[in-house]
Amino acid sequence: MQYVSTRGGMEPSNFSDVLLEGLAPDGGLVVPEAIPSVEPETIESWRDLSYAELATEVIGLYWTDIPRDDLAELCRAAYGEQFKADMVVPLTPIDQMTALVDLSQGPTLAFKDMAMQFLGEALPYVLKKRGETLNILGATSGDTGSAAEYAFRSKPNIGVFMLSPKGRMSRFQRAQMYTLTDDNVHNIVVEGVFDDAQQLVKDLNGDLEFKAANSLGTVNSINLGRLIAQSVYYFWAWLRVTTGIPAEQRADFGVSFAVPSGNFGNIFSGQLARQMGLPIDTLVLATNENNVLDEFFRSGEYEPRSADNTLATSSPSMDISKASNLERFIYLVLGQDQTKLADAWQQLDATGTLDLSEHQPRFQQEFGMVSGTSTHEDRVSTIRAVYEKAQVVIDPHTADGVTVARGFQKPEQPMLVLETAKPEKFGDIVNEALGFEPELLPEFARLLELEQHTIDMGVDAEALREYIALHHV
Ligand SMILES: *Cc1c(COP(=O)(O)O)cnc(C)c1O
Repeated sequence: MQYVSTRGGMEPSNFSDVLLEGLAPDGGLVVPEAIPSVEPETIESWRDLSYAELATEVIGLYWTDIPRDDLAELCRAAYGEQFKADMVVPLTPIDQMTALVDLSQGPTLAFKDMAMQFLGEALPYVLKKRGETLNILGATSGDTGSAAEYAFRSKPNIGVFMLSPKGRMSRFQRAQMYTLTDDNVHNIVVEGVFDDAQQLVKDLNGDLEFKAANSLGTVNSINLGRLIAQSVYYFWAWLRVTTGIPAEQRADFGVSFAVPSGNFGNIFSGQLARQMGLPIDTLVLATNENNVLDEFFRSGEYEPRSADNTLATSSPSMDISKASNLERFIYLVLGQDQTKLADAWQQLDATGTLDLSEHQPRFQQEFGMVSGTSTHEDRVSTIRAVYEKAQVVIDPHTADGVTVARGFQKPEQPMLVLETAKPEKFGDIVNEALGFEPELLPEFARLLELEQHTIDMGVDAEALREYIALHHV
């Protein structure tokens, strides 16, 4: 299996190469030359596999330049005891036809661990084979940063430089990241919002000379390895929910997924699973008040907003107004035509908008994609309603997913809402909804007391360059 750029300017490469390179050299995103397809019988034959075994099967369709035993070993290490639930991803029903897919059993209590724990094994493996080092430069609005730091802390040959926006993360998220003391982990706090931090990352990545001299790479949400690792749980959840269905009806038993979205990574992984042949009926995209994606799916017009127009909401990991993975979806919409995609992006860069309204009906008809917006009030009332009905406490991002899912539920069809974080991370809104804060496990409560270590910086590419040049591995 070979990988190319959405915009056509990259030699076909193998998976081990693109695992280290999120962005293609022409500014486009790396995509598989063709999405592999899986027969219904094959999916059925995966029913009794453990999560790690299933991950080996699904990821193995994309990562073809690795011995199968090695991949199996990496997956076993990635999906082991660092996940609190034995089955790694448990399903929790919240009513007759709705269940949560619990992606938050990992070390940082959020779904980013699902992909990052895999990269935490896969990247050192590839680097060791090549005798190379990697300095991961990333920007985070909360969960990506902590997931990356926990996945790569103290890994050989890897440095982590993580930019986070000042004052935009919860107390818990700050404690989780800033209390790490591993020598290879650098928490850089930027005087700005997430998009400013992301722009700094793009600036440095765009400087190919600096990038090469400092072995810079990324595990940000555009990393293709993450997207592929994330498609695994769509298969997993579908297999669990269809267990009670008579075998002869399973092959085309449609299930819908609702996905709290920001950078369009998680839901794109669902789209990949759907294109591979998993019977997903509808992918419901949920946004918060920063609803640039909802606008796009309803109108076909994509108009990213500036950092100034990004609101700080109570589901902060979705406070994103430029969805970095959307280009991959639009590439599919444009028939995987690299010339058309490059033209579209030129239009977007020149005018600030991309008009795909003529394709809009296909978003749902062909790709099964629908969308909706959820507000702070929706989150509060949904957290309350789910607790009253099922005695399950959900976090505000998952609440956005449940809120929007309600508008698209079909009779007799399971709706699976991806639980993207645990409520302990967002005590304030849970308290507002329920009158109590979810109790922290002792191991997490302890973090709040520890000393924090950060490097403070303005939105200053020069200062960042200097710091990295001094501290890279
Ligand atoms: C990252 C994140 C999201 C958004 O996921 P994308 O892949 O960026 O769309 C939603 N919820 C939580 C808790 C997250 O950490």
